[in-house]
Amino acid sequence: MAKDYYEILGVSKTASAEELKKAYRKLAIQYHPDRNPGNKEAEDKFKELAQAYEVLSNPEKRARYDQFGPDAFNGAAGGGFGGGGFSAEDIFSQVFGGGGGRGGSIFEEFFGGGSSRRRSPSGARDGNDLRYDLEIDFIDAVFGVDKEIRIAKMNTCDTCKGSGAEPGSSKTTCTQCQGRGQVVMQQGFFSVAQECPRCHGTGQIIQKPCKKCYGNGQVKIEKTLKVHIPPGVDTNSRLRVSGEGEGGVRGGSSGDLYVVLHVREHNLFKRQGNDISCDVPIPFATAALGGTVDVPTVTGKATLRLKAGTQNNTVLRLQGKGMPSIRGGGRGDMYVKIITEVPVSLTSAQRTLLEKFAENLSAQNNPKQREFRNAAAQFLRDE
Ligand SMILES: [Zn+2]
Ligand SMILES: [Zn+2]
Repeated sequence: MAKDYYEILGVSKTASAEELKKAYRKLAIQYHPDRNPGNKEAEDKFKELAQAYEVLSNPEKRARYDQFGPDAFNGAAGGGFGGGGFSAEDIFSQVFGGGGGRGGSIFEEFFGGGSSRRRSPSGARDGNDLRYDLEIDFIDAVFGVDKEIRIAKMNTCDTCKGSGAEPGSSKTTCTQCQGRGQVVMQQGFFSVAQECPRCHGTGQIIQKPCKKCYGNGQVKIEKTLKVHIPPGVDTNSRLRVSGEGEGGVRGGSSGDLYVVLHVREHNLFKRQGNDISCDVPIPFATAALGGTVDVPTVTGKATLRLKAGTQNNTVLRLQGKGMPSIRGGGRGDMYVKIITEVPVSLTSAQRTLLEKFAENLSAQNNPKQREFRNAAAQFLRDE
């Protein structure tokens, strides 16, 4: 059964165009394939979002949808999504102003709405910084790892070197601002200098726009990068890859790429600062009799000696078996917490033996219980 488009975007039936766009932007970033490599579910969700947004953002289609529901746009009968030759990526690019526009990038959201984009009077524009979220295994965080990531970004057009002009073509001085790149507007008593609308602050008019980038100076590329992750990183550690953000135009410099790490949880080890902790269950007989127990550490097996009468929740320290410090110099420790496991599913023979054993126990064997009973009796007398 087709899903409700309003539900997909998480908006009400009366949502405004602005609300729709906001909802779509938020979810589309979350499920974008670049951020969820190899995740089929996210990819489907991403397509579903684009489909819902494509219909609801178009007043005519929205009216048709409200009347007939999603069936109006599914399959051959609809001719809505797919029939128009749209892909989910196209919708995404449109909304985010990708594909060479001035609207900004997918990743701008994370860095405060393009505030990193700087402009100079010559019209040079630096590329935006980009963010890439990368999940790594716990063990890779301990030892460091080299990872390959694939990013899509707007890069400086190599045909026109970011100038936006067809190679060999000429530029003329903008007649509206006489090459200053700014025009002065009168607002009441004040005159305000603004970017020239004709030349967008460059002071020049391109005679022949570059055919490859349509005069934008940027083209969309995909690129594979090797990222070296040093030992000791943690979730939310940020690695800066200098110059691998978006490319600048008209002589602007490239932005940086920030790889934000997310360390997967480990089934045995937990991290606390630079220390690692691990819970190790042992047989209760070993706790009572003493003995040795093998424990895993990030560098291999370690054997611990337990003294007779080791209590539940006893914590033992293995020096230097923790995480390496990311700032270099020394490692944390590992803390092994002994969990005394009470046996379950006793056979009748085991039961008989344990009952015999229990009869044999004296107050001497259980000093904590004796102490507690005395304190409790005292308390109850005083009440
Ligand atoms: Zn170009
Ligand atoms: Zn101008």
